[in-house]
Amino acid sequence: MSGTTGELFIVASPSGGGKTTIIRRVMAAMAELGWPSFFSISHTTRAPREGERHGVDYYFVDRPAFREMIETGEFLEWAEYVGNFYGTSRAAVEAQRAAGHDVFLDIEVQGARQVRERVPDAVGVFILPPSLEVLRERLVTRGKDAPATIERRIRIATMEMAEYHRFDYVIINDRLDEAVQALGAIVHAARLRTRRREPLAQRILESFQSALVEA
Ligand code: 5GP
Repeated sequence: MSGTTGELFIVASPSGGGKTTIIRRVMAAMAELGWPSFFSISHTTRAPREGERHGVDYYFVDRPAFREMIETGEFLEWAEYVGNFYGTSRAAVEAQRAAGHDVFLDIEVQGARQVRERVPDAVGVFILPPSLEVLRERLVTRGKDAPATIERRIRIATMEMAEYHRFDYVIINDRLDEAVQALGAIVHAARLRTRRREPLAQRILESFQSALVEA
């Protein structure tokens, strides 16, 4: 454990932009370095897709339960997206950061905006698909949505992409390896922020200062 608060990474992209894969790959690389990180599992009213598991991909809840969570202030952010509600648990994020773990939020742009307002030191990363053709292809080969839903997602994606300028970093997800490397570099830099380095830097400085006093 670092002794300081973990970073909060907001990773947003249009649906099908590949952000979940990129985050998972970066987290695996971080684990190898011994850097603990946490993927925030959202609550959603969306029905599970094939293969999705409760508590792993999402916490699947009904609308009354979601409303209750809004009313009791349990969400750091929440948004309605393509007819369903999605929200991030405030308690889970805060506990993980307090333990010094870096936290990743895989969320859409309305939620990202709320987090930026509430957590000013969060690091915002926007992942753009390289082209319309590539995004459509990815949504089709994923095979999880009906054609009409895909066209709807593309229309929404176009509106979401106009929000890229609100983020600190923009990654074009053309080649997966390069996108993973880019997010890894952002994580690396964030972990070197002065706030994060303070305990260690202070110890080094104090060792110099006490050596000078003793001399
Ligand atoms: P999907 O239904 O494809 O899993 O997700 C749809 C969109 O909702 C994606 O852009 C995903 O990142 C976003 N999303 C997932 N969880 C949350 C959340 O907790 N809050 C917000 N605002 N968006 C979320």
